[in-house]
Amino acid sequence: MPELPDLEVLRRRLEKELRESRVVDVEVLKDRALRTRYFKPAVLKKGVLLEVSRKGKNLVFEFHSGFKLLFQPLLRGWVSFEMPGDAVPLMKLSFEGDRDLYFIEYEDKGMAGLYIVRKLEGLNFMKKLGPDPLSEEFTLDYLAGAIRGRKNGLKSFLVDQKAIAGVGNAYADEILWEAEFSPFRNCTDLSEEDVERLFRAIRTVLDSAISVLEDVSGGGLPPFEYREHLKVHRREGQPCPRCGAAIKAVYEGDRGTFFCPECQR
Ligand SMILES: [Zn+2]
Repeated sequence: MPELPDLEVLRRRLEKELRESRVVDVEVLKDRALRTRYFKPAVLKKGVLLEVSRKGKNLVFEFHSGFKLLFQPLLRGWVSFEMPGDAVPLMKLSFEGDRDLYFIEYEDKGMAGLYIVRKLEGLNFMKKLGPDPLSEEFTLDYLAGAIRGRKNGLKSFLVDQKAIAGVGNAYADEILWEAEFSPFRNCTDLSEEDVERLFRAIRTVLDSAISVLEDVSGGGLPPFEYREHLKVHRREGQPCPRCGAAIKAVYEGDRGTFFCPECQR
């Protein structure tokens, strides 16, 4: 699943490429991917792109006209300037200067969605999102308040989009490894210093992933779900880069939690 670093680098690149460009054509290629019906896709035609923003794991294309196109990739959605042979096309935005932007889904999951709106607050899932870790609202005070009173484990807390928007299964594992906390440690168990350590780990892991992804993208869009730089996520049995103990995995359905049983407490 694309998470905050993937989508942040994608956002930056798309904005750089397409800002102030005019849409010349819109084609919905998978009808069920378009989740709103108040506006016809044609309202985006002739629209000039003002900016591309991101909230959590959602990308928002905002036009001077006031219309917004929100893309929610969920598990396998992505965006590309060429149509990859192994993906399902959902929508095509053609920009002036012969540039086609494809909204796609790797595997026909039917999960990735597109929403055409004027106000993002009209979308229920957007209203419920917590602050984005790259935003100013995400402070140490916010984190301390959000974690207080939680009775679940740290991993469940980190992936809860209502608490923090943008962290998913992979980066939650990485953040907890960085902070040296067990994913199963209870939120109520954290001292003030622990919360500070978690806060720093969130920033460090996300910032360094963004710079890795900037590098591997070269001049283009980032690859879908680049994960080579991760230290514990999907590294079961491999040595912990800090202490050398074998990385452990605990599965819940097909969702795995990966951690070092020695140095994460
Ligand atoms: Zn370790």
